Amino acid sequence: MSEVKMEDIVSLAKRRGFIFPGSDVYGGLSGTWDYGPLGLALKRNIMNLWWKTFVENRDDMYGVDAAILMNQKVWQASGHVDTFTDPLVECSNCKSRYRADHLEGDKCPNCGKTGTFGEPRMFNMMFKTNVGPVDDENSVSYLRPETAQGIFTNYRNVVDVFYPDVPFGIAQMGKAFRNEISPRDFVFRSREFEQMEIEYFVHPDKWEEAFKQWQDNIKGFLKQLGLEKVYEVEVPAEDRAHYSKRTIDYEYDFPHRRDELLGLAYRTDFDLMNIQKASGKSMEYRPKDGGTPFVPHVIEPSFGVERAIMAVLTSAYTEDEVNGEKRTYLKLPTHLAPVKVAVSPLLKNKPELVEKAREVYKMLKKEFGNVMFDDNGNIGKRYRRQDEIGTPYCVVIDFQTLDDNTVTVRNRDTTKQERVKTDVLISKLL
Ligand code: ATP
Repeated sequence: MSEVKMEDIVSLAKRRGFIFPGSDVYGGLSGTWDYGPLGLALKRNIMNLWWKTFVENRDDMYGVDAAILMNQKVWQASGHVDTFTDPLVECSNCKSRYRADHLEGDKCPNCGKTGTFGEPRMFNMMFKTNVGPVDDENSVSYLRPETAQGIFTNYRNVVDVFYPDVPFGIAQMGKAFRNEISPRDFVFRSREFEQMEIEYFVHPDKWEEAFKQWQDNIKGFLKQLGLEKVYEVEVPAEDRAHYSKRTIDYEYDFPHRRDELLGLAYRTDFDLMNIQKASGKSMEYRPKDGGTPFVPHVIEPSFGVERAIMAVLTSAYTEDEVNGEKRTYLKLPTHLAPVKVAVSPLLKNKPELVEKAREVYKMLKKEFGNVMFDDNGNIGKRYRRQDEIGTPYCVVIDFQTLDDNTVTVRNRDTTKQERVKTDVLISKLL
């Protein structure tokens, strides 16, 4: 478990405009969260980094963006209608409901009574809806509980249009929905969240090699997120999803406990074979060299965006003391920080300083994009605020700037300041 407290992360996230409870003004909606400007910037930075690393920078990856609503046959064939369930128990005393495998002992966490839980019943986590004006069995659809099936259903399209060599991957990021029995631990277990998933299609004889490569790829990506200590946990056969022949859970020390950050699974040909059976369409891949056709097997690295955000915030959250005062700051990697540089005039009531600060701000904004003009409160308050949102650099324009064209650059982590000529400022901040 991390030493960082959950309430500190939640409170900073709300106070500073990262993440707010969903529908807060109406008392909230359990398991939903809204991203404010800074949280959205952090989330986009993580998602863009993933896309760049695994799609743009590679030659063997194809991106898709499938519809969230899909034909109900998708979820029948995939097994989700029958088996995407969690064990639900209800306390006979206070009627509160829990996921049976998340309870410790038989004491109700709400009313404290023991022995009040009956036998668990299996609860399907998919959100059911109807597509179109007729409310019958044929119009039933579901909000997708994973992005993976939108990839599998486009496998044939990608193969037919792009004719990639095997191995190749299809990647998708986007929303997923699960009617979690008890959403909790901030955004860690939400009912609406985002996934970043890849199905990597390999020859059946080559899955072990590809699995190993994905372990390395994941390690590299986690490093880019600034997450050094992530535990690879081999999931024993009895705990694996029915389709998986090998799964590794990547666990992180979150504030609530050590828990799953992402998963890597060998899904065999389970999904493509199910689609082939249910749709009657061939999922075979025909090698260009005339070799024997085969249905590819699949390696699936599955990242949850919210869990990545929580891990990044937990790892970045730091408290120290500066000049005898307690300071809280987010030690975010620069490429993830919502704001890269904040620009301030030392005093906001001196027009000549404000004008010069605006000029420097414009120059940096053009170069970096995520630059903030900050003239709220005194300079100490500005530093504290920028530290809390993880801004790596604060640039301050003072009277000396007007004389010699130098500005102060303050470093978030060391709090050290140095004077830098404005004509080399961009290269200094790169
Ligand atoms: P758990 O056991 O924690 O419920 P899972 O094993 O069911 O998770 P997967 O089905 O493997 O999760 O989903 C892939 C990834 O999607 C997870 O590793 C996680 O990062 C993310 N994820 C799954 N459920 C949620 C959720 N309710 N809220 C936020 N992220 C989630």
